[in-house]
Amino acid sequence: MSYDIKCPYCDRDLDIDHDDGYGYEDGPTYQQECHWCDKNFTFTTSISYNYDVQKADCLNGGNHDWHPTISYPKEFTKMRCKMCDEERKPTSDELVLIVQSQIK
Ligand SMILES: [Zn+2]
Ligand SMILES: [Zn+2]
Repeated sequence: MSYDIKCPYCDRDLDIDHDDGYGYEDGPTYQQECHWCDKNFTFTTSISYNYDVQKADCLNGGNHDWHPTISYPKEFTKMRCKMCDEERKPTSDELVLIVQSQIK
């Protein structure tokens, strides 16, 4: 369990009260009452985004890392690049391998 904030008066753990979507906007000053000490305090919201970055050699002149996305029937399987998520139809040679494969 992790809490959003600590009360600035009594230093106890609190969750921001998001009833009706309150307090989500980045900018205004919001008010809340502490459940523990009954004092009022204000807070502002800062929204942070987390990004997960990966190398994508295929977007830099390298080869795509194609893997079949096994669909049923297998004839509808597409090849998807693990790096950039691009899809293409399998070549007829690949399709033969896919259909013959026991991959489930
Ligand atoms: Zn308090
Ligand atoms: Zn790719």
